[in-house]
Amino acid sequence: MGKKVILLISLALMSGLSCALAQNCKNMENKDFHKEMMRRAIRLSEESVNKGGGPFGAVIVKDGKIVGEASNSVTIDNDPTAHAEVNAIRKACSNLGTFELDGCTIYTSCEPCPMCLGAIYWAHIDKIYYGNDAKDAASIGFDDDFIYKEIDLAPADRRTKMEELLPDEAIKAFDMWRNKTDKTEY
Ligand SMILES: [Zn+2]
Repeated sequence: MGKKVILLISLALMSGLSCALAQNCKNMENKDFHKEMMRRAIRLSEESVNKGGGPFGAVIVKDGKIVGEASNSVTIDNDPTAHAEVNAIRKACSNLGTFELDGCTIYTSCEPCPMCLGAIYWAHIDKIYYGNDAKDAASIGFDDDFIYKEIDLAPADRRTKMEELLPDEAIKAFDMWRNKTDKTEY
């Protein structure tokens, strides 16, 4: 084998190795960043307890920057929908001037409840990191398992009774929407 060939092979091996190392570094950096953002969500959840809110916090990130963060304010704002994730989504959308959060990641101190999971899906957030899980939440009195079970039931069998009323009149807005040519779809 000529010296040139050996040199070329060595160079190729070295560049491959440095590439692998760089990739490894990047993965570690990413992991550290994810942990940093989760710790921020956790800190918000702790601060929330101290200021009278529920023990939940959430941070939304896009392109490595925080675009919205919030804690639970149900009892502070007298708003049963003011969960940390929903509050953070509202702030992120307001800050970015959009109703879609594609390309965003949410870090939430607890696994999202069905409402927040729905909101995250409606917002088209790409990824969810969560700290505590639903069982941890249930152990301190925040049990949302019954909502998941309700979803599986037929409307008439749900705890909150549901009954269809005036569908012939309600459909008019849907017809208007279908026929509207300049609508903002979402
Ligand atoms: Zn929630």
